[in-house]
Formats: sequence, C-alpha cells, structure tokens
Amino acid sequence: MTPTDGADFKRELERATPRVVRMAQRLAPAGTDAEDLVQDVLERAWAARASFRGDAALATWLHRILVNRAVDLGARALPLALHVDLLSEAQLIDVEVEDPERVVDRAADAELLRAALSRLEPMDRSVLVLYDGEGWSASEIAETIAISTAATYKRLQRARLRLTRELAGEPPQPVSDTSVCRQARVALWDYLDDRLDGPTRQFVDSHLRDCPRCPPLIQALVGLRSTLSSSPAPAVSARLKAALEQLVE
Ligand SMILES: [Zn+2]
Repeated sequence: MTPTDGADFKRELERATPRVVRMAQRLAPAGTDAEDLVQDVLERAWAARASFRGDAALATWLHRILVNRAVDLGARALPLALHVDLLSEAQLIDVEVEDPERVVDRAADAELLRAALSRLEPMDRSVLVLYDGEGWSASEIAETIAISTAATYKRLQRARLRLTRELAGEPPQPVSDTSVCRQARVALWDYLDDRLDGPTRQFVDSHLRDCPRCPPLIQALVGLRSTLSSSPAPAVSARLKAALEQLVE
C-alpha cells in the first residue's frame, strides 16, 4: 500500500476502526464523546496519510495517534473530572475489596467501566488500557507516551488499584494489620505480572494463604485484567461509517 493510494488506505482505516472505537471508549476523558474522539483520529490519520510509511501496521499507527490525542485531551479535561481519585499512594495500597465478583461484573458493563476509567488520571488510564486491555508491552507504551518503562509500571499499578476502587464503589477501609499486607502489596504487581524473584514470590504466596484481606483484592485485579483484555470490539456506528465515507471526497 502506498500513501497515495487513498482507496486502500480508507479500506485499512475501516478495518481498524472497531478496535479504535473500543480503545476510545476506554481512553476518552470525562466530557469527551468517544465517537468524536474516533472521528478526530480518523481525520488526523487521513490528513497525515502521506507520512505513514508502512513500517508499522496501520492499526498500530492509528492507535498511537489515538493514545496521544486522548492524553492531550485528558490533560485539558482534568478540571472537569471532578471525581479524579486523590488518594495518596499509601492510601491506595490499603484499599480493601469485599466483593471481588461485583468489581468484575461492573467492569463487564461497558458504561460503568467507561465512567470508572474516565475518573483516572489520563496517563494512568492510557497505560492501563494499553497494557491490560490491548496487550501492549511496557516498553511500547513508554515509547508512545514518552515516559520511562519504570514509570509505566508504576502508573499501571496505580491505575489498577484506582480502577478497582472506583468499581468496588466502597469507601477505602484502611486495613487493620497493615505492615505485612503492605509488604505483600508492594510486591503484588510484580507477582501478578510474574516478575518476582523466588524468595519474594514465596513470601507473597505464604502471605496470601494466611491473609483474609489480600486474596479478594487479587481476585478483583486478575478479573479486571481478564475483562479488559477479552471484551470484543463494538460495531462501528452509522455516524462513524459516514465520517469514513466522507474522508475520500
Ligand atoms: Zn494481606
């Protein structure tokens, strides 16, 4: 496909659009319509098609345009997101989940998920959606939104906890015996992503066998990740189809 071949380019855009819609529904900041965001991305991609070199898949290129646009809009929309979670890192790590199944059920409802995601900080939201939802690697995310890989993991952890808390809909209850749980929870992320050394893994395993509070949190986090990655891409609306048609005119 050459950049000047408008018909091919449009066909590829059409093929990539359902996935872009799914991503936009999750990445759109509060106050931004997901379809408006997709239309904006399609128009930008079309206008910039001469600069598309074809060394990455067109879908990947489109996703990058979307992510950067969503982060920009999110930064501007922050004052609108009245419920942005202001818990400190220390408070977040103490978040309790009483009913993990409820958290996962709510995440499976696209509207509830979108509302909860829209209350996350824009870069945290992008990292979570791309890593857990779209299967990007931490280094791909880091490169796309111009942060370090270490910062990507940090944002991922924070975003997973915040999303869990948003979906749990329960006020954060500080855990009563905090010290061991905190140690375990600091290692939890690497435990979930299978990046722990042997002794630390054993420590977390044995803590999880004894602790009544941490297993429900893990269950919620694992369920959320699975829900984010398995939802099908939605059908493209008539409005977006019409917008795609108009690109070539
Ligand atoms: Zn614990």
